[in-house]
Amino acid sequence: MTPTITKFLPFNIPLIEKEEIDAAVEVLESGWLTTGPKVQQFEEAFAAYLGVKHAVAVSAATAALHLALDAIGLKDGDEVIIPTLTFAATGNVVTYCGARPVLVDCEPWHFTIDPGAVERAISPRTKVIIPVHFAGHPSEMDTLLHIAKRNNLKIIEDAAHALPARYDGRMVGTIGDITCFSFYANKTMTTGGEGGMAVTASLEIADRIRMMRLHGITKDAWQRYTPTGSWRYEILDAGYKYNLSDLSAAIGLAQLRKSSRMWNRRAELAQRYNLALANCDAYQLPMVSPDVSHAWHLYIIVVNPIALGIGRDQLMKELRERGIGSSVHFIPLHLHRYYQEFWGYARGQFPVAENYSERCLSLPLFPRMSDDDVDRVAEALLDIAHEFCA
Ligand SMILES: *Cc1c(COP(=O)(O)O)cnc(C)c1O
Repeated sequence: MTPTITKFLPFNIPLIEKEEIDAAVEVLESGWLTTGPKVQQFEEAFAAYLGVKHAVAVSAATAALHLALDAIGLKDGDEVIIPTLTFAATGNVVTYCGARPVLVDCEPWHFTIDPGAVERAISPRTKVIIPVHFAGHPSEMDTLLHIAKRNNLKIIEDAAHALPARYDGRMVGTIGDITCFSFYANKTMTTGGEGGMAVTASLEIADRIRMMRLHGITKDAWQRYTPTGSWRYEILDAGYKYNLSDLSAAIGLAQLRKSSRMWNRRAELAQRYNLALANCDAYQLPMVSPDVSHAWHLYIIVVNPIALGIGRDQLMKELRERGIGSSVHFIPLHLHRYYQEFWGYARGQFPVAENYSERCLSLPLFPRMSDDDVDRVAEALLDIAHEFCA
């Protein structure tokens, strides 16, 4: 069968509309571009949206995670437990602090960090657990909080996929010690390409992050150029350059206003995939625990190569030939050269993540998709299954 040639459906397109463009133009014309009143407004609106006390805007989720580890006092030689199934950033930030990333496997249903594996990985040097709310599905937070409490550990959540998500009725962002969100271009909301947020209930942590995001100089250092600010500043520690600009924050404010609407649309599209693909045993569909609300950042199917007749890589190619983009999240950290050569990890150590990562495929899922787009992807998948199935 010859696939029909239609317009290419990319894996993701951000939803940038007139509000974002107008907000950006307003800042560009205002005379104040970098961290200032828009960042403050964005932080207040974001904190109110989650129902958390403090939100500190930064240049990326990677920066938020790094500052979070700094704020809880992570030091040389400490250990941080993270899932192997995550993006590079979750592990890299641990090494920025001179600490060791201790990798563990994920559970086989939602592919979030396996709490049993976390317990087995705890040593006297362990200071932090970083659960990743994979694809937008919250990790098993109650179990993790319990483990953290018993062992005197902090929990810093990598919520780069999880805006907005709920666990047991609680909004992600109000659960662990610090939660980090991403506003990268293809995440569930963007600040115009790059941006992030650290949220916490602790004023002390928020103040530390606020100071360290801008050179480690006195709190509210940006105000030194305003009429009410003092020109004096003092360097209190060797901080970083991780602040967010007002230009980004203005775009973020416009995106935040439609966050719930964008979530609704993604949830509808996910449900449409669920129904369209329900009766095909070549594809295992995402499972959602009854006590969570999924952010639906990613819609990931797991291929059953026996039933399908081909593997994931070929499926991806077949979809591309039918004009459909897709992606893979992720190659587990322990399969990368750096983790093998520097930290001594090897293939075979984390079978759930390895098995998953060879068979997973993230389908297009973004608010601008139409119902027809979903149908087209689902039909292509069923068509491919039909074609190759033995
Ligand atoms: C995207 C992502 C990050 C990093 O986000 P940035 O805002 O690009 O720094 C961290 N963790 C996970 C799981 C991600 O997917």
